[in-house]
Amino acid sequence: AMEQSVRAAQMESLGQLAGGVAHDFNNLLAIILNYTDFIADEVTGEAARDLSRIRDAADRARSLTGQLLLFAKRDPGRVEVVDLNDVVTGSTDLLGRTIGANIHLVARPRAGAIPVAANRGRLEQIMLNLVINARDAMPDGGVVVIETDFTEVTDGPEAPLPPGRYARLTVSDTGTGMSAEVRDRLFEPFFTTKPADRGTGLGLSTVYGIVGDAGGHIGVESEPGAGTTFRILLPPADSPAPPASAAPPGPSYGRG
Ligand code: ADP
Repeated sequence: AMEQSVRAAQMESLGQLAGGVAHDFNNLLAIILNYTDFIADEVTGEAARDLSRIRDAADRARSLTGQLLLFAKRDPGRVEVVDLNDVVTGSTDLLGRTIGANIHLVARPRAGAIPVAANRGRLEQIMLNLVINARDAMPDGGVVVIETDFTEVTDGPEAPLPPGRYARLTVSDTGTGMSAEVRDRLFEPFFTTKPADRGTGLGLSTVYGIVGDAGGHIGVESEPGAGTTFRILLPPADSPAPPASAAPPGPSYGRG
């Protein structure tokens, strides 16, 4: 636990540093982009082609700083009671189109509602980041399964969270899996094994931050060649948990 809080503090300060740098860079990039637009009207031929390369690079830099700013943002957004199943079923269409035709996306939401107190956009961001990583780990195609259910955390030194009932989001893939070295570092900001034009190393540290802000926990199980499974636990919005036999929460929970 000690190690975890040191790591969390490191991430926090790295995040602030990254946010500050990203903010200043964004302003400078805005100036660069503005001037390239001015010049674009005045040049033709080879100079115009060169200029458009400058513009493309500045655009890519701006999207990178945009991601950095998103990562550094500690604002959890508007927190409301959201049905995790709703987020899953509402995202599968977009996710399916994002990952391409050679990857099969299966959504298996547990029957009934899974209310959690969170920001919908941030939950969608979690799913997008996990599914994009799954896609990148399956260059020759494969299967991504997104599941939801409830799980019980029991007391013990190994328990990641206080005992009780939690909502669980599971995203697994049949991809390359990862080595212990990668597994140990994958939540670190800027840690990536992807080429510089593909990976920023901010996807999972963003997910880690969102889950932590929501009072949850993220765990990973992965072996080289055996695929990867991410499990996210979130406190249910209806906690303290009713007994399993209790009626599912009615539609009124949405009004919070
Ligand atoms: P990025 O995707 O930009 O590299 P992330 O923080 O999302 O940054 O991921 C960090 C690293 O963790 C990836 O570069 C990859 O090595 C590893 N990783 C993440 N998800 C998976 C996965 N589903 N399968 C295999 N490796 C993964």
